[in-house]
Parts: sequence; C-alpha cells; structure tokens
Amino acid sequence: MATETSKLAVAPGVTAPHAPVKALKDPVAPAALAHLDIVQGPFWQRIPAYANIGEAEFLDHKFQAKNSITKISKLLEALQGLVAPDFIKDAEAGFARAPMSVRVSPYLLSLIDWTRPYEDPLRLQFVPMGSRLLPDHPKLDLDSLHERADMPVPGLTHRYFDRALFLPLDTCPVYCRFCTRSYAVGVDTEEVSKFQLRVNADRWQQAFAYIRSRPELEDIVISGGDVYQLRAEQITEIGETLLAMPNIRRFRYATKGPAVMPQKILTDDAWTDALTRVVERGRALHKEVVLHTHFNHPREITWITQAAMNKLFERGITVRNQTVLQRGVNDEVPTMQLLVKRLAHLNVHPYYIYMHDLVKGVEDLRTTLQAGLDIERGLRGLTSGFNTPLVVVDAPGGGGKRDAHSYEHYDRTTGISVYTSPNVHPGKLYFYFDPIDQLPPEGRARWADPAEHEKMIDEARAAAHRHPH
Ligand code: SF4
Repeated sequence: MATETSKLAVAPGVTAPHAPVKALKDPVAPAALAHLDIVQGPFWQRIPAYANIGEAEFLDHKFQAKNSITKISKLLEALQGLVAPDFIKDAEAGFARAPMSVRVSPYLLSLIDWTRPYEDPLRLQFVPMGSRLLPDHPKLDLDSLHERADMPVPGLTHRYFDRALFLPLDTCPVYCRFCTRSYAVGVDTEEVSKFQLRVNADRWQQAFAYIRSRPELEDIVISGGDVYQLRAEQITEIGETLLAMPNIRRFRYATKGPAVMPQKILTDDAWTDALTRVVERGRALHKEVVLHTHFNHPREITWITQAAMNKLFERGITVRNQTVLQRGVNDEVPTMQLLVKRLAHLNVHPYYIYMHDLVKGVEDLRTTLQAGLDIERGLRGLTSGFNTPLVVVDAPGGGGKRDAHSYEHYDRTTGISVYTSPNVHPGKLYFYFDPIDQLPPEGRARWADPAEHEKMIDEARAAAHRHPH
C-alpha cells in the first residue's frame, strides 16, 4: 500500500518545492513561560534592615544564620515601618500559641510581600498569626505519624521493611509551622516540651549499630531537624559510616536548606565539599547518595537558588523535592504547576506532594483530601512523568505513605478518608481527617457533637470494609 510519504516522493536529483510549514500549535503566551521568570538582583534591599547589605554579605551563610529571627523583638526590628503595629501584636499572639519554635532567615524574610502579609504564601508557612489560628481537629496529634512508636533506638524510626529514618539532630535553619516533627524539633515552646534528639555520640552509635544489625535495611533517610545544621565533619561521619555497611545501598540527606538559605551551598565550602565527597565515594562503591529538599512555593526560588542548584548539578548531586500541600500557600493548581515547572527547570525532581499531616496548631494550613486529588489531576501530563510529583497521604498512626487516590473510602461530608497499608501493617485501617471548617454544614454539625465522633469513624470503617475502593 502506498504511504503518504511515497506519494509525495520526488525523482532523484530533483529538489522538492518547500511546502508551507503548518504550525500545529499556536505560539505560547508569555504566562506559560512564567517558570523562567526567576527573581534577579538584590531583592533583599527593599527590606529596610537589609537595604545596605551587599551581595557578598547576603550570600554569606554566616550572615544568614546570625541574622535569622527567633524572637518577636527581632522581627519587629527587621520590619520597622513595613507593617502596621497591629500585625506585630497579632504575630506575638501567634508566637505564644505555636507548637513550633520560630526561626526565619533573612533570605525568607526578604521574599515575603510585606504589603500583603496576611495573604503571603511564605509568611503563612513561618510566621503564625494569632487571629488566623483555628481550633484543632479533635483527632489531631502532636506525633501524628507515630514515629516514636517505631523507634528501636531514640531517633531511628524503622517502619518500612527495607528503609529507616535517622534523626541525628533536632535543629533546623528555619522552623516551619506545619512541621510533622514538632514533637521534637526546635526548643520547647509555651505549648510543647520537646522529645530530645540532640546530637549525641552514644545515640548515633546505637543507631548505626541497629542499622548494621538489620540486613533488610538498604535505604536510610537522614533528616532531623535538618542536615544543614550538621557540621561538615558530621556529614562525613554519617556518610562514611553508612557507606561502609555492606547492607546499605542508598541514602538521602534531607534538608529544607536550599529553599530557605541556598547561600550555604554557595559559601559554606566545607559543608558542600563534605557532601560532594560522600556522594562521589558512594558512586565509586555503586551506592546512591542524594539530597532531598523541600520547596513549597515557586517564589522560594531565586537566582541564588538557581546558582546553588547548578553547583550541585555540576558536582553530579541529584536533588529531589518534597512539598507539603498547604491552604493559601500552594493549594491552587496554577501555583503548583508553576512550582513543578520551575523545579524541573533547575534540575530538581519534584518527587512527592504530601497531604498536610494531622499536626496540632496549624489547622488553618490544612486542606481537604479532595484538594490534593484536584492538584494531582491538574499536574498529570504537564511535563515528563519523572518530574511529576505523586500526591501522598502519610497515613496517620504509622501506615506510611499512600497514594492519595488509593483510599478505601472517602466521605466528603464528614471529611473522613480510610487507607490500608498492606506492606506495613496488613489488615489495619488508617484514617485521615479533612479540616472541619472546610466541610459542608452537615459535616461541621456532626463534628460539633462529641457523641458523633466515634459514630462517624465507625461508619467510615464499615464502608471501607463493605466497598473497598
Ligand atoms: S525544616 Fe523540616 S524538620 Fe525543620 S521545621 Fe521545617 S519541616 Fe520540620
């Protein structure tokens, strides 16, 4: 059968006339390339406190660490003239009620739009406002993932068959309001006395001994706290110890650092070189060492981030991103699309989007499961599959990560969804709860009556058994 091509073929030696090129797609609108529009220049100088800070000083990681804000008085100092006195009072009330310590880097502070501080997606994540806090859902828990229940030694959670989570320290370069680990991370607050996970040689040795003793463990997540706060020699010690274990095939250092203080990668040579050496040594041993990070909003990415990610890329260091879905921050499809495209542009793989864990004190940041499902639908097909994050629920009570769509049952009126986790605890059911203020009136009324709580959960359990998804 003659093909279209053979019909159009011309005799050898004869040049075919140029057919007009038919454009299959219209030219793209500039908005479709917004991910390339990365903040440039000395953006920090619009904050009065940093108006005279030059590039070299702002890029110095020691300047960032030394000038990070942990007290309301310092926040006030930095924002002098930028916000109304009522805003500071409101933030003071938020600081007092927060389960997390507060720490904001100058980098982050200068990316917040202080002309609209209540709506700003970066402010929302780090500076609590008393007037915006909502009552906790009755099923919220400080350690919602029950990490402590799965710790054979303090600071080492062994939940999944072949991997474990090692928490070598309890401090971070910033403190995020939504932190899953508010039971341990940061200093005690008025609301919470923390579980101790300080750097401690004996504790580390116990964790290493346990990992060495379990041949099924191949994969370790080193988190915290945040590995940005480890000294270079501690990065090396952990890396070399794990690489020397025959059972370990891969591990990841987890840090929020690139999203909140990318300067460290550019100017803390000892730290970045230590990481690079572990990655290179791992490669020589055919073991994978990567960096996991945590961008939540496209505006967290600037030219400084791009320079830092380029440096890691040049050194052959893979970076993957995990995002937490938060109301008012990144729960709109266009925002998440922009984040995914911008990360991919920087060669950072968007890996997971987590439904917000059921942690206390941040009900205003949680979304419904439906919001996560809608985000997934809006992302799939946008770009390559390996750059498309999976939306997951970290099943409350210790079930591990579940594809958000894999619920056995989801009642949008009561906001209860039910998951199973056959590889972690076969037969056990896990319940996730939408925030009550986002439910329809009937659901809100039922949660207002404590006598209804267990009834709703029993109904969800029965439905999950009757009609598994
Ligand atoms: S950096 Fe990570 S561990 Fe630290 S407060 Fe933020 S989410 Fe929690």
